[in-house]
Amino acid sequence: MTQKRIIIWYRNDLRLHDHEPMYVALKAQAQVIPIYCFDPRQFAQTSFGFAKTGPFRAQFLLESVADLRQSLQALGSDLVVRCALPEVAIPQLAQELGVQEVYAQEEVTSEEIAVDTALKAALEAIGAQLISFWGHTLYHPDNLPFNLYQLPEIFTQFRKRVENSATVDPTLPTPKQLLPLPKLEVGQIPQLSDFGLEPPLLDPRTVVQFRGGETQAQARLDYYFWKQDHLRVYKETRNGMLGGDYSSKFSPWLALGCLSPRYVYEHVKDYETQRITNDSTYWLIFELLWRDYFRFIAAKHGSRLFRASGLRGVSIAWKQDWERFALWQEGKTGFPLVDANMRELAATGFMSNRGRQNVASFLTKNLGIDWRMGAEWFESLLLDYDVCSNWANWNYTAGVGNDARGFRFFNILKQSKDYDPQGEYVKHWLPELATLPAAKVHEPWKLLPVEQKRFGVRLGVDYPNPIVDLFKSAQANEKIYNAAFSR
Ligand SMILES: Cc1cc2nc3c(=O)[nH]c(=O)nc-3n(C[C@H](O)[C@H](O)[C@H](O)COP(=O)(O)OP(=O)(O)OC[C@H]3O[C@@H](n4cnc5c(N)ncnc54)[C@H](O)[C@@H]3O)c2cc1C
Repeated sequence: MTQKRIIIWYRNDLRLHDHEPMYVALKAQAQVIPIYCFDPRQFAQTSFGFAKTGPFRAQFLLESVADLRQSLQALGSDLVVRCALPEVAIPQLAQELGVQEVYAQEEVTSEEIAVDTALKAALEAIGAQLISFWGHTLYHPDNLPFNLYQLPEIFTQFRKRVENSATVDPTLPTPKQLLPLPKLEVGQIPQLSDFGLEPPLLDPRTVVQFRGGETQAQARLDYYFWKQDHLRVYKETRNGMLGGDYSSKFSPWLALGCLSPRYVYEHVKDYETQRITNDSTYWLIFELLWRDYFRFIAAKHGSRLFRASGLRGVSIAWKQDWERFALWQEGKTGFPLVDANMRELAATGFMSNRGRQNVASFLTKNLGIDWRMGAEWFESLLLDYDVCSNWANWNYTAGVGNDARGFRFFNILKQSKDYDPQGEYVKHWLPELATLPAAKVHEPWKLLPVEQKRFGVRLGVDYPNPIVDLFKSAQANEKIYNAAFSR
């Protein structure tokens, strides 16, 4: 009897632990054929003309795929790699090997669904089928106390109902051994240059050197929870901006599925048993609930997530002011908190949550610029880019999200003083302001000529003048925002 073969199509689930497609295939005693496709569409341009997958994320992806291949090899199998459209490469492989079932993790957003649809059709044409498994979230939709179409539009309502009556499924076991692949061309993992990308330069100010892959993801969790005990104080430190350990930094690995949220959850529970249960241990899971929520919201609302009018469907007169947008991108707005964060993003591919909220608020509420330009810039640069988390957070910050509560903007000055009172963060990324005392570093435009001379910071020369008045610009954009709602 010939053994049943199942292709496992890896997407944003680049791991062996807690992996349902692999688990179900092995339960069926099938020979698994793991494949990853580098889809050229993912390396094209966004609608505003940025590299869709910029060098940081591309590098991290290559490392993650290489790590998965090594792990599969260590178990006796391998990873087939193709630089091709999945809907072409996978049916070809299925035909070559006589495979009738392809297992994959389900995605919920439009571009990914379009690939699924094309693949399904191509497989059907050769008598094979695509079988999808849910896998990104902490909570499985089947365990929620409502179906996705009845998902509450307010996060707190969602959270309370989930916390009261849903359970998290246990992680699935990691395979110990796999059958070798049949004879076939496994294919090479491409290099950045194959996508026309240069390797990202390592900025000496980088505080965490992210490396892709499940091995690194588990090492980071071990470090953050168990070796350094940082989880104990996560709630107090999580709003930081400077340093490697104010927050978990799990997001790049969660985004590519190198880390399963249920694996994180189980470690939090073990930590609570073995070390301490406190607000911090609760809060890490609370944050994972936001991540779940945004994926469920994306599944519920479909392509509205990507429209200028957002989930609320409101037509705000957003500007596409490329000159000011470039100043935002380059960190030259004259507001140190915004500029430091934008320069960190450009230099490292990462930015803290506090930073993201501030720069997104500044772009949309002070500059009145089309939030989708910001979302696409993040998509290009963020190591942890996740289609649902990114686009839903931008909807939310721009005030067009499902539970937007009117025109709320971040007071950049207050935020600077609250979250960077000594100016250490802005000085780290804006060396031209390093000589300024803490009391002056967040408002360089107030420096008198004599102070500019004393500290060696010439306004408009060494550091830009502010491109807008913080409060007047917010008022003007508030009027535009409110006008859209009263139409
Ligand atoms: C405009 C904007 C865009 C964003 N884009 C992304 C994105 O593309 N990918 C992404 O993973 N996160 C995104 N976030 C959410 C958040 O900023 C990051 O998840 C967080 O900074 C990652 O750092 P961490 O892993 O150390 O987080 P921690 O504070 O350690 O939190 C643990 C985990 O909880 C999840 N989480 C925390 N906050 C959020 C949130 N607001 N929304 C969704 N999940 C959250 C993440 O998976 C994170 O890894 C965005 C936020 C904003 C305001």
